[in-house]
Amino acid sequence: MSSVDLTEEQYEKHREAGEILAEVRDEAADRVDVGVAHLEVAEWAEERIRELGGEPAFPVNISVDHEAAHATPGVDDDATFGEEMINLDIGVHVDGWLADTAITVDLSGHDELAEASVEALEAAIDVVEAGVHTGEIGAEIESVIDGYGFNPVVNLTGHGLGHWEQHTEPNIPNRGVDTGTELEVGDVVAIEPFATDGTGKVSEGASEEIFALEHERSVRNRQARQALEQITEEFRTLPFATRWLDVDRAEMTLRRLKQQGVVHGYPVLQEEEGRLVSQKEHTVIVTEDGCEVTTRPR
Ligand code: MN
Ligand code: MN
Repeated sequence: MSSVDLTEEQYEKHREAGEILAEVRDEAADRVDVGVAHLEVAEWAEERIRELGGEPAFPVNISVDHEAAHATPGVDDDATFGEEMINLDIGVHVDGWLADTAITVDLSGHDELAEASVEALEAAIDVVEAGVHTGEIGAEIESVIDGYGFNPVVNLTGHGLGHWEQHTEPNIPNRGVDTGTELEVGDVVAIEPFATDGTGKVSEGASEEIFALEHERSVRNRQARQALEQITEEFRTLPFATRWLDVDRAEMTLRRLKQQGVVHGYPVLQEEEGRLVSQKEHTVIVTEDGCEVTTRPR
């Protein structure tokens, strides 16, 4: 896969999304503290993205302790932060051109676990250039996390970012495997190491708050029709949260749309109960001899 066909204007939109995101990520992280509500941080970040001229590319993910991905506050969610390990994963798009980033805020006193994914990401970014095998990036991640005595989460990966598409080829593994894929100049990819004191394999939990369009088809129910109209116009193929729908009885409406195969859900992905997961992510544009990180503060 290669994104080398993008125009300079399209790369500029990727960069603009990254610049907004860098600011919102760091400000959102500063707001996370014991007693603060998840919903307050998520809604603050999503609103700040819009103020700065972007749109959220997906609901702000707030994963706590053993959760790794796809958790976001529900409608009227009243959960607050405790002395926990919190991962914020945030995305921005400008006209469908994306940036994706994550940071761990550790309130649990496990600095080393948080540090492991930060250092793994830096080591990964150091080897990115045109021609690098994606498996070599994974090997760097695995080696750093191993060095800390933790496991990388191997069934979550980095990914390409497409137009209105959050996950495209190529996958960037979090361990050294032979993928047979090389990065090319102009590829836009998100690299996201996860480190854990658990097994290194996440599985699906019961909770589901994030959805995306699967098949557009006509629906009879009025709320379902309204919701589908909002989804196709505002989110298109990007993920959205139950709480983003401007319809009455959003939860019931989404269950209906899911039953009819119109949308699919993203269950929370988690380690075993009692384990902890840290995550760090940046979006990069691959160059001849390195890369440009779009989600670093300027
Ligand atoms: Mn992400
Ligand atoms: Mn990502």
